[in-house]
Amino acid sequence: MDTFEIKKHKIWIMKSLRKGLGLGRPDHGQERNMFEKCPSCNTVFSRKELEDSHHVCPSCGYHFRMGAHDRIRLICDPGSFEEMAAGMTSANVLDFPDYRQVLKEAKQVSGLNEAYVFGRCTVRSYAAVTGVLDSSFIMGSMGATVGEKITLSIEYAQQHQLPLIIFSASGGARMQEGTVSLMQMAKTSAAMRRFSHQGGLFVSCLTNPTTGGVLASYASLGDIILAEPGALIGFAGPRVIEQTIGQKLPEGFQTSEYLLEHGFLDRIVERSELRDIIGQILKLHERRRSASWNL
Ligand SMILES: [Zn+2]
Repeated sequence: MDTFEIKKHKIWIMKSLRKGLGLGRPDHGQERNMFEKCPSCNTVFSRKELEDSHHVCPSCGYHFRMGAHDRIRLICDPGSFEEMAAGMTSANVLDFPDYRQVLKEAKQVSGLNEAYVFGRCTVRSYAAVTGVLDSSFIMGSMGATVGEKITLSIEYAQQHQLPLIIFSASGGARMQEGTVSLMQMAKTSAAMRRFSHQGGLFVSCLTNPTTGGVLASYASLGDIILAEPGALIGFAGPRVIEQTIGQKLPEGFQTSEYLLEHGFLDRIVERSELRDIIGQILKLHERRRSASWNL
């Protein structure tokens, strides 16, 4: 045995001993879960620090992705949110390989039954229906159940003459449900049209990332469209577009800032201001509704 071989052998013995005595390396998965690195400025923060700052980097303002229930806590008045249709889950209608397993894992990772959570609530004391897509559940993709839940939230808002606020974060249509998932684009858009014709207010808030069939349907139909800073918003990925049109895309293409400059968004709102801004929008809408009652 040369020196290298001896070293290798010693390391192997040490590893085997550690394993046998239950002295494995510290659980790096656990460590990783306690800390998070900002992808923008590389500063490392504890989970607690990030939760306290609503998942916004205290150093550079980068907006981390946010789970549905964290979002609800951020926007709705404490204790006011009443979730609806919480038990609805997806079925493997096309018998797509491994989809059942993918759904099972998504439920475990996210703690949700599906990627969309909605319910009745108050925001700054104004009654509303709020829905949130959670990107930790199969990238917040829209299959038949997500489409149905979004439609239910629109119809509930319509029946009860309540404003509707939806926070989108999605990779688009759910691949495993094929054409059935594409149909949800038409279904949610049609429901939104009926809601709009009845005078309903829809505030669409686009968060990082809002792409594909979700952006190409209900999410871009807001009476008011807000977005979080630095969010990726677009239909297809930049590489696909570059290859299709054979041109280089402009700097910052598909970011909130670029879309605001080009008239697609009404406003970019920092996460810390979201509840206040939405509260103000609901207040203005309430006035409009009371004015129409007086006519
Ligand atoms: Zn940062």
